[in-house]
Amino acid sequence: MIGLIAVTAAGQRAAERLAEAWPGTRRYEGSASAALPRAFAECDAIVCFLAVGAAVRLLAPLLGSKHTDPGVVCVDEALRYAVPVIGAHAGGGNDLARRAALVLGGEAVITTASDAVGSVALDEFGADLGFVLETGSELAAVGAAVLSGERVTLTAGAAWPLPPLPPNVVSGDPEPGVPAIIVSDRLGPFGTTGPTVVYRPPSLVVGIGASRGVPAAEVTALIDGALADAGLSPRSVRQAATVDLKADEAGLLAAIQAGDWPLAVYPADALATVPVPNPSEVVRAATGTPSVAEAAALLAAAGPRPAVPGDPATPGDLGTPHGSGGTELVVAKRASAHATVAVARARPRGRLAVVGIGPGARDLLTPRAVAELRRASVIVGLDQYVDQVAGLLRPGTTVHATGLGHERERAAAAVAEAAAGRAVALIGSGDAGVYAMGSPALELAGETIDVVGVPGITASLAAAALLGAPLGHDHALISLSDLHTAWEAIERRVTAVAEADLVACFYNPASRGRSWQLRKALSILAACRPPGTPVGWVRDASRPGEAVGMSTLAAFDPAQVDMRTLVIVGSSRSRMVAGRMVTPRDYLWAPS
Ligand code: SAH
Repeated sequence: MIGLIAVTAAGQRAAERLAEAWPGTRRYEGSASAALPRAFAECDAIVCFLAVGAAVRLLAPLLGSKHTDPGVVCVDEALRYAVPVIGAHAGGGNDLARRAALVLGGEAVITTASDAVGSVALDEFGADLGFVLETGSELAAVGAAVLSGERVTLTAGAAWPLPPLPPNVVSGDPEPGVPAIIVSDRLGPFGTTGPTVVYRPPSLVVGIGASRGVPAAEVTALIDGALADAGLSPRSVRQAATVDLKADEAGLLAAIQAGDWPLAVYPADALATVPVPNPSEVVRAATGTPSVAEAAALLAAAGPRPAVPGDPATPGDLGTPHGSGGTELVVAKRASAHATVAVARARPRGRLAVVGIGPGARDLLTPRAVAELRRASVIVGLDQYVDQVAGLLRPGTTVHATGLGHERERAAAAVAEAAAGRAVALIGSGDAGVYAMGSPALELAGETIDVVGVPGITASLAAAALLGAPLGHDHALISLSDLHTAWEAIERRVTAVAEADLVACFYNPASRGRSWQLRKALSILAACRPPGTPVGWVRDASRPGEAVGMSTLAAFDPAQVDMRTLVIVGSSRSRMVAGRMVTPRDYLWAPS
């Protein structure tokens, strides 16, 4: 819950705006000296409309640890600045300040070093991948080395789709005396002699079989022993798995609960299809599958990691079939009196984000797209679009920029990078799935990578907003480019649009080599709708040189249109109202 504290009239009004924008916030009335301690105890984050100095005095006696304290943001009386005072990373203060600034029209004042130089903070490193920081990690020393440009080694047991790291962080084995970042599910030692940070990736799945009445302690001891003997960290266990017959076995469930693992449950016939090293006919006779522990561990490890609740960008499980995906059994079946366990290691899944960067203006690029661009270690796109977002990328990001016309290569490069385990953002203007890179990439992408789509404001929406409300009723998007589509097909679709009386949005209306197609399309529409039907065009919507024009089907001159223009032709119901193009919403019942 977010707490809001305001004492002045201006602060109260601003707090009201935040409360409206963010349902579920709580207002704290009364003096700040009484309200802040209460909010501090009850909230995950707090926005105070107070001077930073006043807040610091009130917060000082309340401070605990940066891992548990709420993030506290101060906003000045004129609403110009939102300043995260404590809990900037773990308490979400930086994010809260950015969100408050967005609602109130001010600016977030970010002072944490890693954000100021644009690099990833080590206390957040891999958090969205499910990494857990090992106790005893020397975050401060390694973090300072990363920021100061000192050499730091990064040793990862597998190719995790990590965020970009600055060039002084080099992949490879630890070096004597050099600060080290380790990503591993192994207990160690890792051979480091400098300050070290160890992250536990969510790489292990414990498969469990049990007979009726198994005690929880027996299951726990069997799992602990299996992991310890194999030199594996229990903190890397991401999930447990079993057969559906055992999904209500109390001892098994209690052991899983103690480990705080989600449980994947499979029917026996699904488990029976998994090749395992130690099948058993006795088990088959009892359960219908020759293996429970080994097969369940392997099957769950081959699937996507269980979703993180509340994270909008967690790739959904799109019903991905469980391919083998490089999964390996790291502990073969072990048995105790009433239980069996086996441990499988999942191969990390690369991440492909298909990101629409909007029509041009920076404020029409969504915050989620910005987050994905900063999350990716590899950016793939057309050079002009990459230039457009270059300022947002973190240091260390690899850029694959190519010129016009290399769509297949771009798509293939993005998919290959993700398949190699990297975090890739494939970008496109507007929405990256509308006449853009999304489909060629996803035609190539296999089941072993996660795909995240980030919608962008497509040209037809950007243009429509400038023209008025031309898309108030049914409409169609048509690309007039006959580069990849036969003109006959395009013409058939335009004819259908004309006959259906749909508003038409023409993408790719013309280019240097293509001039007659738009004229032809307009003539097809003109056969079915009145000569006075409004036609609007927008060149470079939300970019420098933006131009907007309106005309009618009879008067419109297609010669003014080029490849940077979008054309919208109204339906027979569209009309001009006070110089704006409007398609009435109520098609049948509106008074004409
Ligand atoms: N993925 C893009 C469309 C790519 S097709 C999107 O969703 O917007 C390229 C065509 O889109 C151009 O020929 C032009 O018709 C249109 N277009 C893209 N951006 C535009 C802009 N800012 N202003 C006007 N038209 C634009």
